Amino acid sequence: MYDVKSFKAEEFISDEEIRDTLAYADENRDNVELIDAIIEKAKERKGLTHREASVLLACELPEKLAEIYALAEQIKKDFYGNRIVLFAPLYLSNYCVNGCVYCPYHLKNKHIARKKLTQEEVAAEVTALQDMGHKRLAIEAGEDPVNNPIEYILECIDTIYGIRHKNGAIRRVNVNIAATTVENYRRLHDAGIGTYILFQETYHKESYEKLHPTGPKHDYAYHTEAMDRAMEGGIDDVGLGVLFGLEMYRYEFAGLLMHAEHLEAVFGVGPHTISVPRVKRADDIDPAQFDNGISDEVFAKICALIRISVPYTGMIISTRESQAVRERVLPLGVSQISGASRTSVGGYASDEPEEITSAQFDVSDQRSLDEIVNWLMKLGYLPSFCTACYREGRTGDRFMALCKNMQILNCCQPNALMTLKEYLEDYAGEETKKIGMELIERELEKIPNPKVRKTAYEHIHDISGGKRDFRF
Ligand code: SF4
Ligand code: SF4
Repeated sequence: MYDVKSFKAEEFISDEEIRDTLAYADENRDNVELIDAIIEKAKERKGLTHREASVLLACELPEKLAEIYALAEQIKKDFYGNRIVLFAPLYLSNYCVNGCVYCPYHLKNKHIARKKLTQEEVAAEVTALQDMGHKRLAIEAGEDPVNNPIEYILECIDTIYGIRHKNGAIRRVNVNIAATTVENYRRLHDAGIGTYILFQETYHKESYEKLHPTGPKHDYAYHTEAMDRAMEGGIDDVGLGVLFGLEMYRYEFAGLLMHAEHLEAVFGVGPHTISVPRVKRADDIDPAQFDNGISDEVFAKICALIRISVPYTGMIISTRESQAVRERVLPLGVSQISGASRTSVGGYASDEPEEITSAQFDVSDQRSLDEIVNWLMKLGYLPSFCTACYREGRTGDRFMALCKNMQILNCCQPNALMTLKEYLEDYAGEETKKIGMELIERELEKIPNPKVRKTAYEHIHDISGGKRDFRF
């Protein structure tokens, strides 16, 4: 039975409720009156339920789709302005005891290069990332209690936060590791992590069990209830995601929103971010094996609907997607993107030969961070390396309160400008620097609060003089 407040996976992600939702969505896909009412509700910027959003996902009426896209763009502008926050993944280890059929790190893959970074290698990776200009990382590791125990992850986090190279610093470490215990989540929280990210892969239990035939990840309930344990362990910023292509996208979409509704209903805080990865080619993985792949058009529709359904939740697009696809979905609600990513273990400090790769998937967007920053600015976006909320303790409900009061405009904008200025001073190429300086001049004017604007001017001036790390 469906119960949004239950702590049992099969009750808050009820298969029956998803099927009823999809049937309801099919019945109403051309119901213009209902669709208009749902779009009107979305305009209030308080989000949509999984049922309402599923009706819009089923709708194929061109004029209604145009309204949905326009609304997603408007909500994105209202909540996030033109800012795009940048981050990079850092792969610590690809040892893994699971059997996930879509990932080349699965246990049975005997020819992929297995690597685990030593602390010296972590330091080398972080130095290379700092030298590009990154301030925000997402660490990734396979599940392996012997090779990658929680102590190893904690030691790596400590190492990462401790590296200071020139003006570089990693100021926020998000963590993407396997579902674990409340106690381990507490230890991650105490280590000062930012967001805990765990992709559900698929919400469809039967498919989930087939796609994860062996290893601890086979346990659907343990995996699906992980965010509840993370919250119990004190982590109040959690990141959801499904791997589109594994199951029917409409099922996943409803499940994803139900998961968000569950977190909001139980903990009073929805997910901090939602990621929308699609299955990619990798070492022994061919995406064509999975027959639920989605087109770029459907992908864009999903991004737009996530934006209007959960306006306060950040949306992440990785370098799995090409430059063209990223350009298509950026205006529809994406708030964070990765840049210059390496999906191999140790890939930032040294290149590895193609024939002995340790990479998790092929990167589509292979540009350098400078190229990404330059590209974003030319498209009219403001690249941001901001980590201020986390460092000011504005996580979970305090962060959401800030968003809901729209105070974010007086925070995000100056923080984006100051962190961009740091990037331009320390890492940018000549052309990027020139475009960026002009952009900062223009964007400073957009800070609504005159006091904040004045302080931001002063800090930006001080950054030219060599000072760093200002934040609101
Ligand atoms: S998806 Fe994660 S758990 Fe599964 S094989 Fe890959 S690294 Fe291991
Ligand atoms: S001020 Fe907070 S919400 Fe805004 S970009 Fe920085 S960290 Fe994100």
